[in-house]
Amino acid sequence: MTVPLIRLNDGASIPQLGLGVFRVDAGETERVVSEALEIGYRHIDTAKIYGNEEEVGRAIAASGIPRDELYITTKLYNDDQGRATARDAFERSLDRLDLERVDLYLIHWPCPARDLYVETWRVLEQLQQSGRATSIGVSNFLEAHLQRLLDETDVVPAIDQIELHPYHQQPSVTAFARAHGIAIESWGPLGQGKYPLLELPEIVSIARAHGKSPAQVVLRWHIQQGTIVFPKSTRRERLVENFDVFDFELSVEEQAAITGLERGGRVGGDPNTAS
Ligand code: NDP
Repeated sequence: MTVPLIRLNDGASIPQLGLGVFRVDAGETERVVSEALEIGYRHIDTAKIYGNEEEVGRAIAASGIPRDELYITTKLYNDDQGRATARDAFERSLDRLDLERVDLYLIHWPCPARDLYVETWRVLEQLQQSGRATSIGVSNFLEAHLQRLLDETDVVPAIDQIELHPYHQQPSVTAFARAHGIAIESWGPLGQGKYPLLELPEIVSIARAHGKSPAQVVLRWHIQQGTIVFPKSTRRERLVENFDVFDFELSVEEQAAITGLERGGRVGGDPNTAS
């Protein structure tokens, strides 16, 4: 199975499908990541706050897969923002992952009340220059936050990782990001299981028509829009299922029917107030 690569604004490429490990217990992470790597996943999305970077690193080391074939993302958490702390937070993430560089380092949330994301971004710019963060980006940034980085700093983020699934598609952030060459990663691509997305009749009937599962149809919808996804599962059969989305194509009408499910329904934190 070949996962398409998306080319970023800094010239690097990212596999369009990966595995997310939010809410994967540290005790289970090494097994889950090892199974994913066996299945063929090469892109793993973790974060300091997930508490499982060390276990992700152990699975990578045990796999024997050459480092250049893997794509590893981690994120700087809110209380590490600021010039004095960001660099140290990055070093500790690398130590826990037991890696010399990450492919992508993200500011996890803008936390506008802290007003530190601009100076934190300056640190990420230096980390990229040092070669230890190949690409740098942000997460949960809305237009105003992106605009400040565009106005006040030098490097345009390669990526904005935002909540994005059929009920909450954030069309204005997505259009703004794309207009500035910023790729979109969809977090919670399956709605985090917080609403019955996979039981919606529109999704179920499309899945039947293709002989695929509802989850595969939703992931395929993301892929055909050009967003990058890394659904989380701790179950091997679902890791296999979620990876098997490249042998069918949704029609324009099917894509539109799923896009028509938009409800403006955020299931996660609000970027303007998350602190
Ligand atoms: P997802 O939308 O990936 O949903 C995960 C849920 O769906 C779990 O309950 C999982 O259960 C279930 N599931 C997975 N595959 C299937 C399937 N084939 N059929 C039915 N159910 C399925 O939510 P996440 O929040 O995990 O988002 C993905 C990743 O995005 C995260 O792991 C993390 O890396 C990132 N993220 C980033 C955030 C940010 O602020 N930047 C915030 C949240 C997530 P089970 O495990 O039992 O299979």
